[in-house]
Amino acid sequence: MESHAKVVIIGGGVVGCSILFHLARFGWQDSVLLERNELTSGSSWHAAGQIHTISSDPNISRLQGYTIKLYEELEALSGQSVGLHSTGGFYLASNKDWYDYLKRERSKARYMGLDQEFISLEEVARLHPLIDPKRYIAALWDPLDGDIDPSGVTYAYAKAAKKLGASYHTHAAVIETNQRADGSWDVVTANGTINAEHIVNAGGLWAREVGHLSGLNLPVQPMEHHYLITEAIPQIEAREERLPAGIDYEGNMYFRQEGQGMLLGTYEPVATPWSVTGTPQHFGHELLEPQLDHIAERLELGFERIPALAEAGIKDMINGPFTFGPDGNPMIGPVPGMRNYWAAVGVMAGFCQAGGVGKCLAEWMIEGEPEIDVWAMDIARFGDYASPDYGTIKSTENYERRFILTFPNETLPKGRGQRTTSLYDRLTAQGAVWADGFGLEHALWFADGPQDAHEEPTFRRSRSHDYVAREVKAVRENVGVVEIANFAKHSFKGPDARKFLDYVMAGNVPKAGRISLSPMLTPRGKLYGDLTIACLDEAEFMIFGSGAAQEMHRRWFESHLDGYDLQYQNESSRYHGLGLSGPKSRELLARLCREDVSSEALKFRDIRRTFVAGVPALLTRLSFSGELGYEIYVQPEYQLRLYQAILEAGADLGLRHYGARALMSMRLEKNWGVWTLDLRPDFTAAQSGMDAFINWEKDFIGKQAAVNERDTGPTIKLVTMTIDTDDIDVSNDEAILKDGECVGYVTSGGYAHHLQQSMALGYVPSDLAHAGTSFDVEINGEMYAAKIIGAALYDPAGEKMRA
Ligand SMILES: Cc1cc2nc3c(=O)[nH]c(=O)nc-3n(C[C@H](O)[C@H](O)[C@H](O)COP(=O)(O)OP(=O)(O)OC[C@H]3O[C@@H](n4cnc5c(N)ncnc54)[C@H](O)[C@@H]3O)c2cc1C
Repeated sequence: MESHAKVVIIGGGVVGCSILFHLARFGWQDSVLLERNELTSGSSWHAAGQIHTISSDPNISRLQGYTIKLYEELEALSGQSVGLHSTGGFYLASNKDWYDYLKRERSKARYMGLDQEFISLEEVARLHPLIDPKRYIAALWDPLDGDIDPSGVTYAYAKAAKKLGASYHTHAAVIETNQRADGSWDVVTANGTINAEHIVNAGGLWAREVGHLSGLNLPVQPMEHHYLITEAIPQIEAREERLPAGIDYEGNMYFRQEGQGMLLGTYEPVATPWSVTGTPQHFGHELLEPQLDHIAERLELGFERIPALAEAGIKDMINGPFTFGPDGNPMIGPVPGMRNYWAAVGVMAGFCQAGGVGKCLAEWMIEGEPEIDVWAMDIARFGDYASPDYGTIKSTENYERRFILTFPNETLPKGRGQRTTSLYDRLTAQGAVWADGFGLEHALWFADGPQDAHEEPTFRRSRSHDYVAREVKAVRENVGVVEIANFAKHSFKGPDARKFLDYVMAGNVPKAGRISLSPMLTPRGKLYGDLTIACLDEAEFMIFGSGAAQEMHRRWFESHLDGYDLQYQNESSRYHGLGLSGPKSRELLARLCREDVSSEALKFRDIRRTFVAGVPALLTRLSFSGELGYEIYVQPEYQLRLYQAILEAGADLGLRHYGARALMSMRLEKNWGVWTLDLRPDFTAAQSGMDAFINWEKDFIGKQAAVNERDTGPTIKLVTMTIDTDDIDVSNDEAILKDGECVGYVTSGGYAHHLQQSMALGYVPSDLAHAGTSFDVEINGEMYAAKIIGAALYDPAGEKMRA
């Protein structure tokens, strides 16, 4: 065994082997994979081998497309058969909601370059004569779908990697991972120790145990899963062509041909987490006892929909475990707070996803960033709140909902209340309807008291519409209060704080007492943050940003600290806060402050340490609503007192609570994008318009790429559009079409309540990105006329904010 390697990958399942292959392919041949048993000794060997492209996140779908398209090449490179059957497959809808869902998927597929199309039910019956088409109302066809041989694929990755110069060792269980002072890792096995610059946890079913070796607690959970294989079915024996694969959403099940029979898998309505406290080391090429009663109900549905199954004998019933993460998507990337430790865990659809996971992780390790935005798979989207218990609860929920529809306005119920603020009960009493973000509950909108705080999941406007309208009206006409505990707060203290921020941030770093907005770029010029920098004094700065991305940003800041004399901390949980917005917000604030808060004394984009209602606070004059507004950050123990004081002082000013939906509506009227939707690493500063905030006079990360793009001009641009709709708005990922051709896609949108206008933000080719250009936007399969606007439709000069 080698004594040194650039990378050691722990785990020889399909994920580890794909990472090895991609590292070797992209130039890091000095990579070694260690497998405790034979390759495929975890969940990989007993997978059903079905492959499909549809996923909740468009970039994951894109990567699933990449994975499937790679198989033929992989077979050729490795000389190992992957058993690919490119049969094509259909996604079957048995009710209108599912049909709408498929239409939305079709819309996403248009811009992802995936070739999905609706086919008639007659066509379904022709392609798959065993299905009863009367049970369905629509079918979406994807020619990429089919099945593979799971062991063949895993070995093909490993063999191809070996041919490219990488190596792997079986029967080499990793028993310790010890980090040296230089950041490298000693990876210890019974046969020797390898010192590696980086390690990758691809432990699959044992990801938790591999994590423990380095003191890491991962929120992943293996779940039991059943599929059955029938005896030969005469109709199949009589055919020459292989049957297509299929997914039945309502049945939460998938099926395909296996031999001369069929394979049918289902996600049980009541899931069974397996080995909750830890995966036994002795487990390997074994299966679990089938629990027929767990799947009986779903099987019956399957038999109704594919009647030939009821006649066929069951040849094999498989119950095997595989690992889920809290939201069902993989968890990959550098683990925040650790050096040179990479995760590739919770990959629950390895044969659809491992190619994409391997590609992204290898790019990230070698080039410093993946080619596309991998936020939906980034391990940094979770924080400390995502404990192992949380992992079990949420994995169970995600398993049970594997193919179950989640509507754009729906929040999932399990694992809620993980983090709450001191206002939780008060706001609940006010009628708050809650959502969780980064484990913290925040109010979406306010109903008329707790009894009224409910909403139907829908693709269309929900009953919250009118309630949000009155919140917006209160902010635009009087004053509103919103809890902003969920914003991220990062602190930088020390003599080099300014120097550091000047280099890490592309925009101006403000002078003492002032605030500036700035993009943060990757070396390739991709957006990595859209952040608010505040200078408290020359040696103390705060950055406010996306709460969801706080660990992602922490990881970025920490990875650039070397050589600077400063202390950095993610202080998001140390500061909670409340925002005041609206023309009467100054009057309200003045009632709470002894210091002068007049427009001359506290200007737009000022920050000061002061007292508000006698509470020590960081007071900023900012607002995301486009109105005169303030954000008041206080330590959590003071927030309740501040809140009570605000309610008392604002009672005669028409003060109203407002939530995230109202805020998101008002920012549309100002043409402002938001992080994770319109602004994210898929786009550059010039594409998003964030280049307006760049200080070109200084050196900063990503400058060369930004300068190059400034010279050539961006190929696509973020635009704001009005859309002529009735009772529906975009959520995101809808296709934008020009003359019937997909030219871009929506990144966010909704209803602008003050303007009474449906609106959307999205990216289109630069030559079309002009005020007045008209498009069609496809929402739920219908085309709606859209037109690009120029300046913001509400207060374009920003006079209200600056008043
Ligand atoms: C019944 C069933 C049906 C499925 N059907 C499908 C399907 O149709 N399509 C699809 O895409 N996916 C399917 N899956 C999911 C798929 O199997 C998994 O997503 C995939 O196997 C995950 O691969 P992995 O490499 O992450 O983990 P694993 O396959 O669990 O691999 C982890 C490896 O790490 C090794 N290891 C652990 N600890 C150590 C250590 N300390 N030192 C060295 N090595 C170690 C293990 O021995 C193991 O080989 C199915 C799963 C099941 C159970």
